[in-house]
Amino acid sequence: MNIFGRSSVRWRIALIYFMLFFVVLAVVSVYLVGRIEQYQLSSLKENIERTISESNLPASLGAYDSLSESGEEIQQTLDSSWSSFSEELSVVDERLRVCASTNANLVGQSAADVFDAVIIASCLLTGENGESDAVLSGGIPVKNLCYIIESARDPGVIYVRADLSSIQAFVAQSRLIFIRAILIALLVTVILGFVLANSITRPINDVTDTVIKMAGGDFSQSVQVKSDDEIGQLAEMFNLMREKLEGTLSEITGEKNKLSTILEYMADGLVAIDLDGGIIHVNPAARAILGLSDDAPIPGDYDALMGCIAENISLSRIKASCEKQGAQDVFSRGSGIFAIHYDRFKDEDGEDIGIIILIQDITERQKLEDMQRDFVANVSHELKTPLTTIKSYTETLIDGAVEDRDTAVSFLEIVDGEADRMTRLVKDLLQLSRLDHRQERMDFREGNIVSLVKRCIIKVEMTAQQKGHQILCRFDPQETFRVLMDNDRMEQVVLNVLTNAIKYTPEGGLITVDIDADGREVRVSIADNGIGIAEDELPRIFERFYRVDKARSRKMGGTGLGLAITKQIVEEHQGTITAESTLGKGTKFTITLPRAVHKGIPNIE
Ligand code: ADP
Repeated sequence: MNIFGRSSVRWRIALIYFMLFFVVLAVVSVYLVGRIEQYQLSSLKENIERTISESNLPASLGAYDSLSESGEEIQQTLDSSWSSFSEELSVVDERLRVCASTNANLVGQSAADVFDAVIIASCLLTGENGESDAVLSGGIPVKNLCYIIESARDPGVIYVRADLSSIQAFVAQSRLIFIRAILIALLVTVILGFVLANSITRPINDVTDTVIKMAGGDFSQSVQVKSDDEIGQLAEMFNLMREKLEGTLSEITGEKNKLSTILEYMADGLVAIDLDGGIIHVNPAARAILGLSDDAPIPGDYDALMGCIAENISLSRIKASCEKQGAQDVFSRGSGIFAIHYDRFKDEDGEDIGIIILIQDITERQKLEDMQRDFVANVSHELKTPLTTIKSYTETLIDGAVEDRDTAVSFLEIVDGEADRMTRLVKDLLQLSRLDHRQERMDFREGNIVSLVKRCIIKVEMTAQQKGHQILCRFDPQETFRVLMDNDRMEQVVLNVLTNAIKYTPEGGLITVDIDADGREVRVSIADNGIGIAEDELPRIFERFYRVDKARSRKMGGTGLGLAITKQIVEEHQGTITAESTLGKGTKFTITLPRAVHKGIPNIE
């Protein structure tokens, strides 16, 4: 187990606990053993002193005139009275010779050789008792005690040598007992230390485990609160914090998901970059606008991604433009036109950290605006021409031409013609506007399209004959193809295509009308062998005011709105109108309408 790792607190507490007990026990033991030894020694000394003083030995020895001369007598006294004395007792005379002793081996020997001469000498000189510790040659520890024999003519000393072996053995034994007790106590201390450390560190470890799980995203587990002490409070606070964190995180995750869903599905492109141009985010719409497929890698920086498309949206330009506040710009890519809006975004300290760029596809809007502009210009132009004509002719009339009746009549006819043209134009415009706003009320009824086409042909027959055209009907006039239609509007459609065929075919042309049908659709084709339409003009002929040859069209009274209205009406009928043409060879228009499914709607013939 690594003591510097997660368990180090437990180890440290156990170690401190152990050290504390060890030091206390060691100090106490050393003190007690010392005291025991001291007590043993002092009681030994007291015993010896009490025995000697109670026996009155110093006084009785002091009664001898000469200790050296009374050696035998003293020896007899010692043998009789002191043989049971547990220590070695000797009498040393003034010549420092052992004159009597409980140890017979010492008698007659020089005290300087066998005893501690220093204490004997100081005792004799000062007249005071002395003592010393020594170790005999056999390694036996002894205590030497020296008592002065005062009243003797020639002074001497009583020399007691006490064997300390038993005391030392006792002390050693006591020490051993203490050491054992300490060891047992320390063992218990270690165990208790661990239990204590565990009780402190377990809740901390619980918190750590839960934090590790939280770091891995698991917020479900809470720490168990087992006590109401500081650690219990810590666990409680931790659980509170975990709950708040879980709530905040789920709120943030919800917001993040919401934001990423918005970014994912928003129709406008969004690019986020840092201030150095590093790409932070590109949403799918922006990818599509910038021509990046879903799995294509995103270029490393803004300039490589989109700054290179146009100079006005390079990183340096947009950074400079949004220095103070957001800005916008327009760029084109391929056939598309795009507007970008950009501004800086900040961190929580209010420091700029990047730029958000919103890209909007404004191609359609731009087209619509262009169309509106063109439309206004066209209407103004179409109205201006007849008005100029009317103005100039009426001015000429006012200036005197009115006097000449023939001139006046021809001028007034021209004015009338121009007024008619304006009326037609305004009528067409009003109808287009109604169709645009779905205000043109359609009166759908089931009818036979063959009869309708026949009626239209009859209506234009005269005009066709005037131009020497032949109208060839290649359908069975008895056939019935029922279509749900507004009769008047559908007549307007067929008449417009037929009159165009008559108008744009040089005299003596051939106009062929076909009607055929399958189970679902009816197709009416009107073909001429007239001037035809160039391939590049063909897709535009259904546009408002579009005329291939403006002068010719105007001369023929056209407004340039006929086919636009036709297309709108056909589409209102859930049908289509298409044109095929070869320049100089002729044009063919095909109107396709769904066949009526009979639902009891009144028929008209
Ligand atoms: P207009 O009032 O000028 O006829 P339309 O909308 O009916 O306007 O037709 C638009 C233009 O399409 C015409 O000006 C003409 O140039 C061209 N166009 C239409 N029909 C034919 C056709 N049958 N042959 C050749 N050009 C045609």
